[in-house]
Amino acid sequence: MTQFPKNKRMEKLQFFDIHTHKKSSKDFAIRRIRSLDICREAEEYNTFEKFSIGLHPWSIIPEKAEADLLRLDELSSQKNILAIGEFGFDKSIPLPMQIQEELFLSQLIIAHKHNLPMILHIVRAWEEFFKITKRISIHTPMIIHGFRGKPELASELIKRGFHLSFGPFFNPKSLALAYQKDKLLLESDNSNTNITNIYTRAAKTLSISIEDLATSISKQTIRIFPSILN
Ligand SMILES: [Zn+2]
Repeated sequence: MTQFPKNKRMEKLQFFDIHTHKKSSKDFAIRRIRSLDICREAEEYNTFEKFSIGLHPWSIIPEKAEADLLRLDELSSQKNILAIGEFGFDKSIPLPMQIQEELFLSQLIIAHKHNLPMILHIVRAWEEFFKITKRISIHTPMIIHGFRGKPELASELIKRGFHLSFGPFFNPKSLALAYQKDKLLLESDNSNTNITNIYTRAAKTLSISIEDLATSISKQTIRIFPSILN
């Protein structure tokens, strides 16, 4: 992957990577939220990085889940915890949906208790997700991370108030919809693509300048995660 050339225009901009699994870098132009999986990585918590924390569906061990939820609740009061997640529903794994649903609700309760936004992982389980979110009231922002869905799904999610976060690969029409409705966020997730390259790709897709895109994303990101600038 090519690195974005450093130039004066780019140097002035502030970039936000709202979901990465990589450890912090020293690039101050990039504000990032590192996703920490409480089931596997709780010991990596420190006070100098900004985190989202959650029980990732891939690493849930049902017998250990209660202890993991307690740890999640305990850590959530730390001021460098900016969100709960990633957590959610995944139908591509053998973990029974009933357990996934219980843990989804438990993590949502913790997010509400600490007044934190949620970063969600939803894979092939939109029906379950819509069913459950229709019958509960949600008080803090929910962000669907790594969104690659079609515009019909994007539109439905936006209509229901969810934010969409896009990585290096996305449906251009869905990206445009999220941008128009002020619901667009960007992330690098597990990829080696630098977040600045993802901004460049998104700006090109939207036929807008990188400055305009950065301004719009900054507004959304700071509104959802006010302490990201601290
Ligand atoms: Zn992730």
